[in-house]
Amino acid sequence: MPKEIGILFNGQDLCHAEDADFASEAISALGLLNETSCSSLVAMLSEARVLGPEQVALEFRKQGTQISKERKKSLGIRRNSNFSEEAYSQLTVNGLKEPLRAHAATLTRAMFALLKAETVQLALANGFNELRISPSHFSDCRRCSVRGEEILQISKIGQLPPLDCTRFACSAWWQPYRDWLAEAK
Ligand SMILES: [Zn+2]
Repeated sequence: MPKEIGILFNGQDLCHAEDADFASEAISALGLLNETSCSSLVAMLSEARVLGPEQVALEFRKQGTQISKERKKSLGIRRNSNFSEEAYSQLTVNGLKEPLRAHAATLTRAMFALLKAETVQLALANGFNELRISPSHFSDCRRCSVRGEEILQISKIGQLPPLDCTRFACSAWWQPYRDWLAEAK
């Protein structure tokens, strides 16, 4: 991995970031889960790439001792919903208001940032200096939605996920980009 690529992640250079850093950033940015969820999220990250965050979060809530029916009622979720004691213990005050979304949303944010980081690293390792923002997938990413097709200098990205993104998990996709046509002229 290239050294000191100049993109910050949680205040440190991206090339030093690990899965726990992506989980930790999502935990503090969304405030739905407490810090004790970090290792669970790290364990879920690799599976989430394959099955998707919603499915993996659901499987996590299914595992282990389940909370009581009274507690489910206090959370406003159905009696037959899956919710383990462990998952419950990871909810913050805000997470208690969105219990069925808390893990999936936090996992999604961590995964999207991790995938972006990997794209950056892959691009640099293959000699690309620019990325193109994919024009699709982000109609609810308000700030990013006007940036479709924009070319980003990797050295000027500065922060990941983008500081100006207002979505819970930035869904703008980045692709390694190089203007081969201009070079061929
Ligand atoms: Zn965004």
